[in-house]
Amino acid sequence: GSGHHGSALAAVVDLDAIAHNVGVVREAARAGVIAVVKADGYGHGAVRVARAALDAGAAELGVAVIGEGLALRAAGITEHITCWLHTNSADFSAAIDTDLDLALSSRRQLAAVLEAARDRGTAATVTVKLDTGLGRSGVAPEEWADFADDLAKAVAEDAVRVRALMCHLARGDEPEHPLNSLQAERLDEARADLVRLGAPPEVMHIANSPAALTRPDLARDLVRPGIALYGGLPILGREFGLIPAMSLRAEVALVKRIPAGQGVSYSHVWTTERDTTIAVIPAGYADGVPRLASGRLRVRIGDRVFGQVGRVCMDQFVIDLGPDGGGVREGDTAELFGTGVGGGPTAAEWAETIGTIDYEILTRIGGRARREYV
Ligand code: PLP
Repeated sequence: GSGHHGSALAAVVDLDAIAHNVGVVREAARAGVIAVVKADGYGHGAVRVARAALDAGAAELGVAVIGEGLALRAAGITEHITCWLHTNSADFSAAIDTDLDLALSSRRQLAAVLEAARDRGTAATVTVKLDTGLGRSGVAPEEWADFADDLAKAVAEDAVRVRALMCHLARGDEPEHPLNSLQAERLDEARADLVRLGAPPEVMHIANSPAALTRPDLARDLVRPGIALYGGLPILGREFGLIPAMSLRAEVALVKRIPAGQGVSYSHVWTTERDTTIAVIPAGYADGVPRLASGRLRVRIGDRVFGQVGRVCMDQFVIDLGPDGGGVREGDTAELFGTGVGGGPTAAEWAETIGTIDYEILTRIGGRARREYV
């Protein structure tokens, strides 16, 4: 119609929810917040999320790769940004030129960053990322003594500023697991090593979202929440009053009557038992709707919730409105997931349906879904 241009498919991001969630984490952790906005802000839009989080009191930002940090800088964001995943081909020079904090996982990475800094005639800002037990990125314990010596030498030559010492938890989502405290102890020991060598880090950080919420004793100067800022974590989220920031909405594309005994969508894995009314929703697996969830999704339209039927296709799926049509009309807004208020579907519910985590659902929403901000 004229005037209003809704999107056929929209990921609507509530920036006030992000701001609320930042406050919840800050209060629970009693520490500064590094807002983790990697993977385009867990699918919510890194720049908009970063601005909202910083406005709400987050101290700084964290991303995985340098390209993500450069994109935030290009958008005019001047706050501290840590990047913690690099390959041999990483553009350390661009990172140094734009004042990104490079979290390092090996002596080789340190050497490459020092070389780039020497090239630029400046000191690099680095974070030491130690593998205290995750078994993924971070300096291996076997390499720690040599890494620390290299770092101390670079500090003595004013070639590097050691901004932080960090590690990432293997079992942050099991708050009471002893490995969490053990990882923190190992990081504290590493800090003592760096102090002794004359290369003390200015700050330390350990905790991801679940640890930030439940283990304030593990927080050192800062925490690094990602999913909590987006209102994820189904159980802790409810306990701490986190608000899911993204709702996925679609315009009902088609409403029509079909007879009893009609197979619906590919392979006819579902067949009507009675004359009914169906609606076509213009969202499919190309947009991030899991095909594996076929027949098990729910969609909210107004104050009613309808079951999805048949196979989820590339671009569309079908819901059963029932014989009375449920009062649904073409052009109505269907909520595929959202805050869950009023019993509506959530991203966490999608995740549970296919045996994954809400992180995966949120980060894979894309394709034709337009991002809108409220
Ligand atoms: N810190 C690091 C190093 C990460 O890789 C991540 C994301 O996996 C986070 C923090 C944020 O984790 P979460 O989203 O569980 O809070």
